[in-house]
Amino acid sequence: MAITIDAFETCLVDLPTIRPHVLSVATMRQQTMVLVTVRCSDGTTGVGEATTIGGLSYGEESPEGMKLALDTYFAPLVLGADPTRPAELMDRLNRAIAGNRFSKCAVETALLDAMGQRVGLPMSELLGGRRRESLPVAWTLASGDTAKDIDEAERMLAERRHNIFKLKIGKRSVADDVAHVAAIKRALGDRASVRVDVNRAWDEASATRGVAMLEAAGCDLVEQPVDAHLRGAMARLSQRFTIPIMADESLTGPASAFDFAAGAAADVFAVKIAQSGGPKAACAVAAIAEAAGVALYGGTMLEGPVGTAASAHAFSTFAHLSFQTELFGPLLLTEEILEEPLAYADFGLKVPDGPGLGVRLDADKVAFFRRDAVRKTHYAGA
Ligand SMILES: [Mg+2]
Repeated sequence: MAITIDAFETCLVDLPTIRPHVLSVATMRQQTMVLVTVRCSDGTTGVGEATTIGGLSYGEESPEGMKLALDTYFAPLVLGADPTRPAELMDRLNRAIAGNRFSKCAVETALLDAMGQRVGLPMSELLGGRRRESLPVAWTLASGDTAKDIDEAERMLAERRHNIFKLKIGKRSVADDVAHVAAIKRALGDRASVRVDVNRAWDEASATRGVAMLEAAGCDLVEQPVDAHLRGAMARLSQRFTIPIMADESLTGPASAFDFAAGAAADVFAVKIAQSGGPKAACAVAAIAEAAGVALYGGTMLEGPVGTAASAHAFSTFAHLSFQTELFGPLLLTEEILEEPLAYADFGLKVPDGPGLGVRLDADKVAFFRRDAVRKTHYAGA
């Protein structure tokens, strides 16, 4: 008998962050994830996640908007469809719905999770096969305070959790920002890689000055110094400096990756499954980068554990991952919503090896933290 998708459920889950996360565009104190569940007539269930950094202050998608689109426009197309043909269903969604890459990513993730459970293979194998079991993970220092950031970095080094640190800058003057980066690099020395993410805050003139100063301070990588659409400026900065320039917000899927690769507008691509439009599109972005000799970095939308696991499966298949990953999203959250947490050890994240995503949501925790839950008390365990 034909297998069909019998239920398509979405919910918003709000989880507090362990500290304020200060970006040039927003200060985050909690993270909201949209969780998508598909239930199939053969008993398999798949989950996916759509999450954005800082909501509308970062990009054009918000958690509430994604949930609305999923419930109103995706659900009727997904319900009753054949879950054994994820690519065909994604084609149908792409024909009927423009944009909405984050929501499409959540749906594709859920379909691949269910498929993996159906055939007994991890998602990485459905995407062509993993090339590594563990992914090095950078940590973002974004308290906004230099001394606090150094303390945090020292703790991470001592715990062998991270030895790559990304600093969020762009909120203060170029000179103040570079002084902050230089102080952290001086404190950590060769024990750690120090990188920055400007999140589009600089104009080209500020970027030219800032990148020169960052290079002199021993910084290893500069992420998205200028606005996302400024391909020419990104190309000139990449050509002018030895320190690699990385495109993040500029990349919105394979077409933009091709455009940036063709224009030699970045030394490194930050690949994100949500920004790309799904795990398969992220693999296409990686293929374009590999063909163009552009290095790769596995990026995060600060997803919770479901999106992080999906990203890990996709990134584990990349031929090269020279600038490692930043899949630390779950570590920024105060609450664990998986039955068994993702495994972080020895400066890396272990790629889950169970079928599908290889993770299971803790239903009680999700029920407690979903936004529409009636909350009577603090969570005290199941
Ligand atoms: Mg970034």
